[in-house]
Amino acid sequence: MIQPLLLRVHPHDNVAVVANEGGLPAGTVIGAGCVGAGLVFSEKVPQGHKVALQKIPAGEPVRRYRVSIGHALRDIEAGSWVHERLLQMPEARSFDGLPVACERPVDLGPLEGYTFEGYVNSDGSVGTRNLLAITTTVQCVAGVVEIAAERIRRELLPLYPNVDGVVALEHSYGCGVAIDAAGAEIPIRTLRHISLNPNFGGEVMIVSLGCEKLQPERLLPVGSIPMTAGGQPALHTVCLQDAQHVGFASMIDSIVSSARPHLERLDARRRQTVPASELVVGVQCGGSDALSGVTANPAVGAMTDLLVRAGATVMFSENTEVRDAVDQLTARAATPEVAQAIVRELAWYDQYLHRGQVDRSANTTPGNRAGGLSNIVEKAMGSIVKSGSAVISHVLPPGEKLRRDQRGLVFAATPASDFICGTLQLAAGMTLHVFTTGRGTPYGLQACPVLKVATRTDLARRWHDLMDVNAGRIAEGQISIEQAGRELFDLLLDVASGRRTWAERWRLHNALVLFNPAPVT
Ligand code: CA
Repeated sequence: MIQPLLLRVHPHDNVAVVANEGGLPAGTVIGAGCVGAGLVFSEKVPQGHKVALQKIPAGEPVRRYRVSIGHALRDIEAGSWVHERLLQMPEARSFDGLPVACERPVDLGPLEGYTFEGYVNSDGSVGTRNLLAITTTVQCVAGVVEIAAERIRRELLPLYPNVDGVVALEHSYGCGVAIDAAGAEIPIRTLRHISLNPNFGGEVMIVSLGCEKLQPERLLPVGSIPMTAGGQPALHTVCLQDAQHVGFASMIDSIVSSARPHLERLDARRRQTVPASELVVGVQCGGSDALSGVTANPAVGAMTDLLVRAGATVMFSENTEVRDAVDQLTARAATPEVAQAIVRELAWYDQYLHRGQVDRSANTTPGNRAGGLSNIVEKAMGSIVKSGSAVISHVLPPGEKLRRDQRGLVFAATPASDFICGTLQLAAGMTLHVFTTGRGTPYGLQACPVLKVATRTDLARRWHDLMDVNAGRIAEGQISIEQAGRELFDLLLDVASGRRTWAERWRLHNALVLFNPAPVT
């Protein structure tokens, strides 16, 4: 007989989540001393889904995370399954009268003495990997660049053993777009800033077609390119339409030979011991279920708090998944200006969605709902816990790059799409990505390690060679949220120092996806 296990986030919640694998059948009785003691299940409730702890009359709020995630559309009896068809979603929180810069966590003091082995760049930033990136101005060149990159991997990388890999920065932008329209600066600066990610060691190679709208000088203006020790810009541009190119092979030869000096400089670098404060971590969730907000995301939140105390930078994002918690964010802002910037970004995103005649409710997926997340409010409350409890020090618009003095907890405003969020966090300067998933996704990025955290033991077991950490142990009572956060923190420092994640071992990665709110032509 399995022990029924219900998880309730806050004592005032009138629902709890079923933690048991396979769910709990009708007739289940919750034993004394447990959350929901004495409750009798009137129907089967799947894992990750909610059960009513008490009768919830029609029109009354269903409370989880201490907040209303919706109103009951009809009477819900104690012990019954509370699924999305029984809930009316509340209105989005207005931007008027928000609490500002008033909530402060208990000060636990700085965490000192933690280090990792990283690659120090000339601008002072620190990479966790030593990669050669090949930037492209336009999708037209992507096929050629990928073949050249494959040849560099095969023929040159064995000669430069300290270089971790070659990344072709392929994307669908660059031409056939309204390049001067409002919003077009977002994909352009995103590409520029990704090319300068700390994991690329300040070396820049550009492959251009020739006739495209996004010319190399516009993508990377002269002043934006790092200098070599010899005082020259660390830049090569190969233009496929140049008259010197006769035939396909000559294009490949040009790209391969221009890679050599970059590989030589990258290969001469060695990892050095640096303080943990040099880490720039992006956190994200995808393929979420109702346990995301109970196990994996709170563990990531505990990790975030440790990182911030160690002086590191942690970015959280996903506009539609924080929109319903805007009051929590503005309350945690370091200053009124930071609170205003949070509202500015989220209000802009509201308008962006409005132009497409949708709202934040377009976020949840069929998989989210099958996994027990009734709506975006419930998903948002479980998503935002990844940001921990620290004050929010900075806000970054999409595609912008963090300055070296912008540290601590940062709200990097991005769409919630896994690929767009990851792409924008890379542009911001992310060198390590922590990704939580409940339904399961094999997500990976080529430009930085992705550490994946499973919300459930069942997923961690089935995807044993894709998931790096099993936060499902929290639901089983084997480990506390704080312990899981500490484990993640330690593992992160190892990964930053070169230990490979599962996605890296399989060389699994997804495409870069640019956020382009401007028209195409
Ligand atoms: Ca996401």
